[in-house]
Amino acid sequence: LIARQQALESSIVSYPKGLPIALKRAKGAIVEDVDGNRFIDFFSMAGVLNVGHVNPYVLEYVKKQQEELVHALDFPTENKLDLIEKILREIPEPARAQFKVAFCASTGSDAVEAAIKLAKHKTGREGVIAFHGSYHGMTSGALSVTSHTQLKSGFKSLLPNVTFIPYSYCYRCPFNHQKESCKLDCAEYLRYLLENPHSGMVKPAAIIVEPIQGEGGTVIPKEGFLEKIIHIARKHEVVVIFDEIQSGFFRTGEFMAYNNSDLLPDIITMSKGLGGIGFPVSAIVYNKSVESWGAGDHIGTFRGNQVSIAGGNGAFDFIKEYEVEAHVKEMGAYLLTRLQQLMEQFSCIGDVRGKGLFVGVEYVKDRYTRKPDAELVKKLRQECLRRGLIFETGGHYNNVVRFLPPLIVNREIIDHALRIFEDAHHAVIG
Ligand code: PMP
Repeated sequence: LIARQQALESSIVSYPKGLPIALKRAKGAIVEDVDGNRFIDFFSMAGVLNVGHVNPYVLEYVKKQQEELVHALDFPTENKLDLIEKILREIPEPARAQFKVAFCASTGSDAVEAAIKLAKHKTGREGVIAFHGSYHGMTSGALSVTSHTQLKSGFKSLLPNVTFIPYSYCYRCPFNHQKESCKLDCAEYLRYLLENPHSGMVKPAAIIVEPIQGEGGTVIPKEGFLEKIIHIARKHEVVVIFDEIQSGFFRTGEFMAYNNSDLLPDIITMSKGLGGIGFPVSAIVYNKSVESWGAGDHIGTFRGNQVSIAGGNGAFDFIKEYEVEAHVKEMGAYLLTRLQQLMEQFSCIGDVRGKGLFVGVEYVKDRYTRKPDAELVKKLRQECLRRGLIFETGGHYNNVVRFLPPLIVNREIIDHALRIFEDAHHAVIG
């Protein structure tokens, strides 16, 4: 199948290049290839299968829906309005009544496009501020606010006036501060740009930020960073977009990774786990105060697909009925502790970080210089694949192992995965 894929499918295919497996079936946190080999899926197929592969509880919702109504454009259905209510129930009081939902054309990238368009429409401005290490998608607008230059090379004329500023990446502090001396200069830099007449910054429409950077290497910002960004942006009437496409939908044990109920962003993007067991759906959740657009300003044939939405309804009900939020916090803490123990054994591990089941392990050539070791991460991934564990990699320097297991993983699966992970270290490092 791999050879057939190479012959027939576009060379843009990327995952099989790092993980050359041909899949047959999956259940929970386990995927099986066509030869019957089983792998622990510790990346939930790009952070999507939060409730586990082919979750039978969610599957029932999907089956029922597909017999009744599959495609309904943006006409009202009970199925859709139920999901909107479930999403809005997660927005804390008293702000909840201020928020609305717009479904987008199925991908995270399209939710990012919608968010940027809404901010531009509202403000009449065009610039966007984004962060070093960001990933927001592959469509032209979303790619413009994605920082990775390699991903953009070869594609000219993306959105104009995008400015990238430093993220709160404490392990590699862009201002070289130690924890004790940190005054959140990374967030203050936004103030400098917006207020210093010499900065050259034309007032932008929006600032877009991942509350935890995903592809950037599971980077968790310092406490207070996100709040400061909102405060500064608001003072200058810049629309604040939080991209929760990867960090949201209970990945951290809460609906959103950003959970300060007193101070919310203007627009939140959602996708991935929102379709339940892998059906495509995306949405923006936004404060009515930024609503300036009207009918037809952001449409798409497949926005709000009814089967995807049923998957979302099933996933929500499953998560609430089985108290998955608390489970994620417990399993996340366990996984993190075990990885911190592993760090004591291997000096190539420079940093271990995580919130809930959103976890990153950063590899370095030595702990003093913190020189990134992307080669080692590649080797570990191959060795783990051979032994039955698959995961995502990423990072500003491609030197981070990223664990995003399905939220239903238990201790037994985590222990098994970590045994493989540790053995792979011994095999690769010696
Ligand atoms: N934003 C973030 C934070 C993401 O992680 C991703 C996908 N990795 C996207 C946007 C784009 O989503 P999609 O691939 O569905 O277009």
